[in-house]
Amino acid sequence: MKNQWKSPEELKKLQEKKVRSLLTYVYERNEFYHKLLRTNDLKPSDFETLDDLRKLPLLTKADMMDNYPHAIISRGFEISDCIHAATSGSTGQNLNLIYDTPTYEFYMAVTYRNFAALGYMPWHKLAYTRYESFKIENQFYEKLGLTRRLFISVFVPPEKQVAMLRAFGPDAVTAYPSILIEWAKMLKDKGKTVEIPVFIRSEAEILTREARSLIEEVFHSPIYEEYGSAEFVQFAWECKDRGFHISCDSLLLEFLDSEGEPVAPGEEGEIVVTSLEAHAMPFIRYRIRDRGVPLDDRCSCGRGLPLMKLVVGRDDDFIWLPSGDRVNPRMIIPYFELAPGVKEFRIVQERRDWIRVEIIAGSEFTEREQKKLMNELYTVIKDRDVEIQFDLCEEIPRGRHNRPRPILSKVRNSASSSG
Ligand SMILES: [Zn+2]
Repeated sequence: MKNQWKSPEELKKLQEKKVRSLLTYVYERNEFYHKLLRTNDLKPSDFETLDDLRKLPLLTKADMMDNYPHAIISRGFEISDCIHAATSGSTGQNLNLIYDTPTYEFYMAVTYRNFAALGYMPWHKLAYTRYESFKIENQFYEKLGLTRRLFISVFVPPEKQVAMLRAFGPDAVTAYPSILIEWAKMLKDKGKTVEIPVFIRSEAEILTREARSLIEEVFHSPIYEEYGSAEFVQFAWECKDRGFHISCDSLLLEFLDSEGEPVAPGEEGEIVVTSLEAHAMPFIRYRIRDRGVPLDDRCSCGRGLPLMKLVVGRDDDFIWLPSGDRVNPRMIIPYFELAPGVKEFRIVQERRDWIRVEIIAGSEFTEREQKKLMNELYTVIKDRDVEIQFDLCEEIPRGRHNRPRPILSKVRNSASSSG
């Protein structure tokens, strides 16, 4: 809680200290990183400043998977004593994740700091959606009646989710935007609202401006964005002053250009993450496959935690046009989110000149709606030579954690197809 008010200079010093101790740690206790340093002719003493980290190569999920569990788990940790999770990517790659307890608690504290900044108090009731519940049950604070939480599984049907939500009456909600939209549409259809007095926090997926206003309207609550992943729990979060702060005491984020050099503030780059806290399973210069923009502005809230902008999303979330231009998913998704009768959708770009739209349609989805959507798509992509085909489906394959994946482009931009 104190760290967030430190100056950027103090926070940088803190990061440097953590990087130095991390490198010493992995050199002594982690086979994979020990070898990595040795191969690159490096010793822990070669890491003085944050820039020195660039002496190390970038790691991918595949590197981690290839070395799991034997080489990547630090000496002294029993996997059975650690907290487990798994990343499940739409790419089909699953990485087992191990957190030692102090690391997990640090990540949870970072998340708590985010909640507290948005007005959350320990006696507030919090509802959250996830594919599995947080692993912090049965802690002492739980027994004191603090941190009352309701876990709503993403696998429960939406009608039941909304019923659970209403019965619980949460003060705050943290959820995936696709689920919040589903709830908001369902409630709006019935002319109902649910008051969420403190805040709604949307996690990790694209939150369009249109979805934001629909959710705010139905829940009478401000909505804030968060950016995280299973590997690191939380990267960055939106404060009440709308600054998107990096949790830089927990993680070091680098924003790199295609040459692997840091981009200037205000420029877009690939996000590479080093966990300053993970010891059982360290992550150093890990490619998370997201893009963002580092900013050197200060936020009006006074926090020293640096600011960034998230660029959603990955290459295959964009539509790549024959002209070579790309269309941001934020431009397209709202039309589908808000269209009557569209229960679920996925836009699949099969070829540069062929887009297939899969829709699970309700009774309100008429031919007129379909035509309207088609015209809206053409207005955005501005290329009549691209064929747009609508397929009404019973089922649409989902992405990470059984969440809808609105856009899937099978066309890769040639400039970014490496890796
Ligand atoms: Zn702020």
